[in-house]
Amino acid sequence: MNMKKIIEVGIQQFKKPKIKQISFVENNKEVNSLLSDIEHKPHAFVLGCLMDRQVKADRAWIIPKIVFDELKTSDINELAEKSLKEYEDIFSKKTLHRFNDDMAKVFYDGVQDIKRKYEGDASKIWRGKPSSALVVYRFLEFRGCGIKIATMAANILAKQFKIEFADYYSIDISPDVHVMRVMERMGCVSKGASREMVIYKARELYPIFPGIIDSSCWEIGRKWCKSENPNCDECSARSECKKNI
Ligand code: SF4
Repeated sequence: MNMKKIIEVGIQQFKKPKIKQISFVENNKEVNSLLSDIEHKPHAFVLGCLMDRQVKADRAWIIPKIVFDELKTSDINELAEKSLKEYEDIFSKKTLHRFNDDMAKVFYDGVQDIKRKYEGDASKIWRGKPSSALVVYRFLEFRGCGIKIATMAANILAKQFKIEFADYYSIDISPDVHVMRVMERMGCVSKGASREMVIYKARELYPIFPGIIDSSCWEIGRKWCKSENPNCDECSARSECKKNI
């Protein structure tokens, strides 16, 4: 399977200069501005990543903003002084997540970890050109953070925030529905392939940075390769696609 074009697009996207405001949630300037401000409020991005579990991403990314607004502070030292009960009350009052009690604890512990381990500065997680494995490992140390969130966080840091890492080997593809569908239809993996198979296929295709094809597959999935009525005529990957629909 020739995935050259997809890889090229991924590399081009990786090389693009950093944009001022990353779009985490469509048409939500306030949330995007908060999450994009990793110079001043890096903990907002980290806490947003930790919320991205078992709910739609749009719903997860807005949680830090709502919690900060409710507590009337986004200062990490002040956030760390709030009790678990205060976080639980906000999560349940605002129905922030499918699992309000669990995720309130994840949020609370995340704040405490950032304060204690990183002296209140979450950017220490990725500062100083660390290896990609170390950044993924540091995310995994947070309560409730699995490999999917950890590699997604490292991928966003590398590709969107342009954080320099010593290497990119440990940044895997994040196989969401778009990525899975595109990889399958293109004939890159067999029909019904598991997420693990997609991850290992991406490692085979571009071992020095497997996650590089993540955004190109995602874009193709969103723009042309929709679950119903894929628009193959206009799709940028049509020349190398097997169209296993
Ligand atoms: S050519 Fe068609 S099947 Fe292939 S990726 Fe594009 S839209 Fe999907």
